[in-house]
This record gives sequence, C-alpha cells and structure tokens, in this order.
Amino acid sequence: MNKNFLNEVECDQEVIVMEDYLLIEDINLLEEYPFSLYLPASTSKAKELPETYTLKKKELTDFWKVALKEQFIKEVNFHRDLLFRSSKTIIQKWADYKKIDEDLLLTSLKKYAELESSSHQVSVVEELYALKLGSPLNDPLIFGVKPDSLAKIPKTYNLQDAHSLYTELAKLDVFDIKSLMRFSKHFGMPSGIEDDRGFDVVLYGDNIFFPFSSISVLNKKIAIYKHDFEWFKMIQTKNVPKIRTLLPKIYTSNNDESVLDQAKHHVVDLLSRLDAYNPNTYFEYSNGTYNQGFWFDDLFSFAYFQLARALVNDVEVRECDNCGYIFEVTHQRQRFCPPVPNRKRSSCEMAYNNRLKKEKKLKGEV
Ligand SMILES: [Zn+2]
Repeated sequence: MNKNFLNEVECDQEVIVMEDYLLIEDINLLEEYPFSLYLPASTSKAKELPETYTLKKKELTDFWKVALKEQFIKEVNFHRDLLFRSSKTIIQKWADYKKIDEDLLLTSLKKYAELESSSHQVSVVEELYALKLGSPLNDPLIFGVKPDSLAKIPKTYNLQDAHSLYTELAKLDVFDIKSLMRFSKHFGMPSGIEDDRGFDVVLYGDNIFFPFSSISVLNKKIAIYKHDFEWFKMIQTKNVPKIRTLLPKIYTSNNDESVLDQAKHHVVDLLSRLDAYNPNTYFEYSNGTYNQGFWFDDLFSFAYFQLARALVNDVEVRECDNCGYIFEVTHQRQRFCPPVPNRKRSSCEMAYNNRLKKEKKLKGEV
C-alpha cells in the first residue's frame, strides 16, 4: 500500500442502524409514530396526564413535518446538481418513476436550475421557497424507519470498519426502493435529517443517525454518487473504450494512457465538490494525548472519502460472481462482495452457494 495520510486517518464514528424502513406516502402518518416523549416517569402514561402527553406528542410530530418539508428547499442547488452532475440514464429513470416524458422533466429541471442560479435576484426568500416547493422534482414521499422499529434496540457499527460501504452504496439506484431498504438495513440510512427527537437514541457529536428523509433529496444524492462512482470504476478497470465515449472529443487521443489520464483529471474534478470528498476535521485532547482525525456528515461523505483513498491506493476491483457489482479486492482468492457490518459471512457468497445447491438439486445431482 502506498504511504499516504488517508491510510492513517482515524474516523471512529458510530453509525446507528434501525432494523426496518418504509415509504411514507402521507406525512400525517407521522402522528401514528410511538415517539419517545421523555416525560417524567409519573406523567409517562397517556391516561395520567393526557394534556401534557398530547401537547408533547404534537410538538414532536410538527417538528418532523416541518423539517421534512424544508429538507427539499434547503438543498440550495437541487436542480442544478441533478442536471449537471448526474447522467442521462439517471434522468431517464427519474422520468420513468414520475411517469412523465424525459424531455418534459428536463425542461422543468432547466427552468428550476435557472431559478436557483438567479436566486440572489429573488428579493423575497419566501417567494423562492414557494416556487421550489412546486417543483415536479419535489416528491412528497418520505423514506423513514418503521414505527415498530422504534421499540427495538438499534444496532451500531464503527464507520472505519465498514470497508465495503463505498462499493455497497454504489449498488443503490434512483427510485429503486428495494435496494435502498437493503442497504439501510445493514448500514443505516445513507443520509437524511440528522436528529434524535422522539427516538430512544442519543446523538452525540460524532455519531450518525438519520430517521427520515425526503425521497427526492436521497435520490439526488444517490444519482450523483452513482455517476461519480462510475468514473472510479472505469478508471480502476481501465475501461478506455467507455471513457472515450464519455470524454469530450477534444480530449480523446489514440493513446490509451493519456485517455486514462484525462479520466483521472475528471474524477478529481468530480470529487472536489463541496458535498463530495470534503471531510470535516477534529482536534481534541483526551486521555493525556492530542487526537486528530476526520468526521463525516453522512454515509455519502464517508463513501467519497473511501473512494478518494481507493484511487490513491490504486486498489484492485473485481466483479462479484453473485451480483455482478464491483468490490475492492482485499485477498487474491476473493470472488464475492465482503460481508456487511455485524455479519461474518458474505451475503453474496451465501446467495451464490444456495443457488448452486438448488440448481444441482434440480438436475438431480444431489
Ligand atoms: Zn456481490
């Protein structure tokens, strides 16, 4: 492994993982959540002090409703990001989900992107808010933890042990809710509104927990990450023919090495965005020593850090025999994606073996 500081950096944040997730179609469903109310023991039962109970519950529900409504608006460059930093395939998938024509969606995107770039001219902030709320890209769906998972004790894992997070995150696809559920079950929701209000978990400064997110905001992040990861994949697999099709004509030469070199310049440009490879740093004094390291806002941010580190280390990647996605090779005989946090065995390896067994059974070999 190359000697570089990214390999030495400490990043020991804990991630809190809830077991089950769902899509919330109606925001009023939040009223049904058994949020923890942290009332004094004597008033914790609804029948004893119904008024305090109802008031506190309403306050919590309203907090989440407002936060979720504002999440989309607060993404300052939502439309510009999606327009300029994702791919044609992704826009097509988004249009399919919305059941509208791709060109129509593009026109909307461009219109709102323009609005975002001229936002300083919109004199009243509320006016811009109202306009953005009406965007067809602002989907009312919410992705969140299931109400009954609030009663279960959440699992945790340490961020720096999640070696395959960045390759697993790349398996997500826009509006592919199944893949999002699968990922979130093991790694936690990748991004969202970071707050523990109403939950029996305590968010210290350094751990990561997202109970809810607007599906639009989550999918925009997936879209951009997927697009950036594709460049990483093309570079590490030296897929020069594909790079040639994506680079502007003026950069494509007959020389494979210089095409690859252009791609490396391009991936660095992509990662230099503020919301990509841009970890926060900390400096602290504890147990008699000074400590310094990185900390991350969400799992996308950590995945970008892993991506940058993998580029610097020029890691070997390989396609998994089971799912076909790429994973980072850590030992030469590896054929499958590595195990997810809190698991000992690779789920891809198990799925592959099970399929093999079934096939043999069908052929009457066993
Ligand atoms: Zn796999």
